[in-house]
Amino acid sequence: LKRKTKKYDKAARAVKQAAVLGAGIMGGGIAYQSALKGTPILMKDIREESIRLGLAEADKQLAKRVEKGRLTVLQMAEVLNGIRPTLSYGDFGRVDLVIEAVVEKLEVKQAVLAEVEAQVAEEAVIASNTSTLSISRLADSLERPERFCGMHFFNPVPLMPLVEVIRGERTGELAIATTVAYARKMGKTPIVVNDCPGFLVNRVLFPYLSGFTGLLAAGIDFQRIDRVMEAFGWPMGPAYLLDVVGIDTAVHARNVLAEGYPERMKEEGATAIDVLLGAGRLGQKSGAGFYAYE
Ligand code: NAD
Repeated sequence: LKRKTKKYDKAARAVKQAAVLGAGIMGGGIAYQSALKGTPILMKDIREESIRLGLAEADKQLAKRVEKGRLTVLQMAEVLNGIRPTLSYGDFGRVDLVIEAVVEKLEVKQAVLAEVEAQVAEEAVIASNTSTLSISRLADSLERPERFCGMHFFNPVPLMPLVEVIRGERTGELAIATTVAYARKMGKTPIVVNDCPGFLVNRVLFPYLSGFTGLLAAGIDFQRIDRVMEAFGWPMGPAYLLDVVGIDTAVHARNVLAEGYPERMKEEGATAIDVLLGAGRLGQKSGAGFYAYE
């Protein structure tokens, strides 16, 4: 996969300065990975508290690397220096690539994208880390939609190698090439996919998860299924995976997929994840999902 996308390198715009919008779970991870691989990045949020959390997350990831002897304390300081937290668009004029990672709401993202487009240079590329929204619809708020594409990372960003680069209806080749090359520079494995519900990974993953919830409805114990899938060789079973992803996030993505592919994703009534969501058991982030966490 990595070699296949090398062809984009020549057509790409060099990214000397990056920016990420949103300092949440994903924005913090993207900033960390970018700085770790040598590209300075502005990390903008609207809340100071979020920025503190984003930086604390980067700090934690780096401390782990130091502990494992993969980074010196000096290198750790350099990486942290590469992340510039900000509450304003002050320095966005010299940014080559902006990665939007704010909350998953169409209107919020469209407003933020239009706002940032007015701040960056003509040639800057803008990408969205959306997991479920249409890249073509997000582009509706932009004056130059050809500069825009999807750049879908997976959680946790430092650990997950794949990045989906999504081509919307009006995405230009410079945006694709720049985003692909930058994903490679971040040490990731990019793949280019067309804009459709679930892109590629979730189109494959959610029918599998729906098979899992179907088995639960038939009375099979979720822990047994997890053990079976682990013995099959997967790093974790479906119940644990759903707890890591977040039950609310999974229900939302499942709904998007069900709407996009009604015949493939047909499910009768409330599934186990709907029940967990109703009970407020959101997975690891809330302390309990399928499993209970300390
Ligand atoms: P999060 O809630 O942890 O972070 C969102 C951040 O955006 C918050 O810090 C919030 O203060 C900030 N924000 C809100 N409005 C803003 C604005 N106008 N300008 C700047 N910052 C603003 O969310 P997250 O889990 O990091 O998800 C962010 C995006 O990444 C979403 O689109 C989500 O679908 C996508 N995504 C999430 C995951 C995941 O597993 N969490 C995986 C892949 C993609």
